[in-house]
This record gives sequence, structure tokens and C-alpha cells, in this order.
Amino acid sequence: MKVLVVGGAGYIGSHCVRQLLAAGHEPVVLDNFIYGHRAALTPSVKLYEASMADAAALDRIFTAERFDVVMHFAAYCYVGESVTAPLKYYQNNVAATLTLLEAMLKHGVKKFVFSSTCATFGIPEKMPMDENLPQAPINPYGQTKLDVENMLKAFAHAYGLSFAVFRYFNAAGASEDTTIGEAHDPETHLIPLAIWAAMGTAKPLQIFGNDFPTPDGTCQRDYVHVDDLSRAHIAAFDKLSTPGTQLFYNLGTGSPTSVLEVIKAIEKISGLKVPANFAPRRAGDPPALYADSSKAQRELGWTPKFKTIDSIVATAWRWHQSHPKGYAAK
Ligand code: UDP
Repeated sequence: MKVLVVGGAGYIGSHCVRQLLAAGHEPVVLDNFIYGHRAALTPSVKLYEASMADAAALDRIFTAERFDVVMHFAAYCYVGESVTAPLKYYQNNVAATLTLLEAMLKHGVKKFVFSSTCATFGIPEKMPMDENLPQAPINPYGQTKLDVENMLKAFAHAYGLSFAVFRYFNAAGASEDTTIGEAHDPETHLIPLAIWAAMGTAKPLQIFGNDFPTPDGTCQRDYVHVDDLSRAHIAAFDKLSTPGTQLFYNLGTGSPTSVLEVIKAIEKISGLKVPANFAPRRAGDPPALYADSSKAQRELGWTPKFKTIDSIVATAWRWHQSHPKGYAAK
């Protein structure tokens, strides 16, 4: 399949490009490099440098190429920022996505794979979280993703768009060859911050809350390897042939892992201590979030290759060791 990967220079998009190549597909990247990294690109893969909000650019690209599928990873994803700057989030995550979908429909491209989030569920009423839970996001980031999910349903019904939506839990890890990995600016995620604290390149980790109703008092999350996420997306291609197909999958390993367990895994793999202090809870952090991914396993034949936190953290550790400044010059 010829696949347009929107946001193909970002964290998950760049890993997906590699997995597409490994599976024999032909990825083409569209990225505006606001958050994407040129060094995360695969040189043999064709690049269009443009924004998905630029209808004229999209028109030129879709005229020049005949894509079978569009995969969309180009969202802004900072929950806190979405609360203080919702205009930016609705503009990019919703309005620009609409421009992308409009270009697809105009050019007769009707297969779409969308990167969504478990944040569309808000504070879930049960664990593990399957696809049938009510969706009630508690911040604009989650709301923008849910808005796109709802747009897709209407487009499937009205225009015969076929789509697969993947709601990720905590994407983590790096490519096994250590050439690409997680590099956000600013970085807010637990695993990179804890690794940097161990390496001495960041201040001691703040553990947000130790009074949650969890076995060790710290938050539990479901960390899932970025290559496993990518493989699930690609496995959905075969299911999109019938016009109007609507697929929704929650993706995680299904194992709740606490902040202290993540720290322990990093200490085991690195042989270093993670300097850390307990700090107050971070606003909006639910005590536990973990997935029931049995639907993806059943329908897509997907099973995560990286099943343990140790195996996920090991790839992240090797990435940060080999790229102490991320994609910036070493
Ligand atoms: N966390 C923490 N210290 C940090 C960053 C994160 O204790 O410096 C905790 C956070 O409260 C959450 C978990 O680590 O329970 C994962 O947070 P992250 O920001 O990586 O992902 P999120 O679950 O918010 O998407």
C-alpha cells in the first residue's frame, strides 16, 4: 500500500514509517516540523514539508500521488497546554484534521487510520478499559480527539470513509536499533524524565503523588511499546476494504505499572539509581489507567511483542544512552 503518514517525523509517526517499510508498504511523509525531527526521517522515504492545514499544498500532494491509506499522527498532545491554549488545540487537532479529510475525500482516498487516546474516556468507571466505556474527556486535548472520532463516524456514514481509530495508553520505548526514539520538547513524560535523572542530565524526578488508592500509592499506567502500536495500525489495513467500515481499538499491554515500578525497572536495566522525591499529585491524574486490548488481539491478531515494563524501558534506556541530547547534536 502507498501510505501517507501525516506527522511522520514525530515520535509515533517515525516509528510507524519504519514498521511500514518492514511490512513492505510504501510510506510517504507529510510533516511541518513544528514538533517533528528531520533526524527521525528515513532518508529513502519521500517527504512533503507542509502543514495538513494547507489545503492548496494538500491538493498538490494528492494530485501528484495516489495514496491507498492516510495515517494521521500530527496532533498536539500536551494535556496541560490544551487547558491554557485550547484555540491552538482545536485549530490543529480538529480544524486542520478536517482540512486533511476534505482533501482525502476530494481525491477519492477513503481509508484512514487515526491516532486517538485513552484520554477520550476521561475518568473511567471500570478497569481494565475496553472500547464500550462511555467517553467523557476531562480536558480539551481528549475532547479534540473525541471530536475527530465523531467526525469520522459521520464521514463513514455519509461518504463511505473507512477508518480505524486507535486509542493509545502510554506510548513508550524506542526502535530496537536505537536510531529513533522519544524526543519531546518540553519533555513531560515519566520514562524519559526518570532516565535523564538516572543519567544525571536532569534534576531528580518528582513522583506526583504517593497517596493514590493503588498497591504502592503511586499512579498506575499501561506502558505500550511504540513499535507495537505501529504494528497494530498496519494490521488494520486489511479490514478497511469495505466502504464505511468503522473500527475502534484500545491499545495497551493490559498490565498496570506504577511510577515506583517504572523507576525500579530503570534502576535494574541501567544499574544506576533514579534520584527521586515525592511531590504533590498532578492535577487531573486518575489513579490507574490500563487497557483491555482483547478486541485488537481478537480482530487484528495483535499481541504486543514487548510485554513487560523491563523490555520497554530497556529500549528507551538504549535510545537515551546513545542520544543524550535527543536528536540535537551529540
Ligand atoms: N509522573 C511523575 N513524574 C513526572 C512525570 C510523570 O510522577 O515527572 C507520573 C504521572 O503522574 C503519571 C505517570 O507518571 O502517573 C505517567 O505520566 P506521563 O506524563 O508519562 O503520561 P500520562 O499518563 O500523563 O499520559
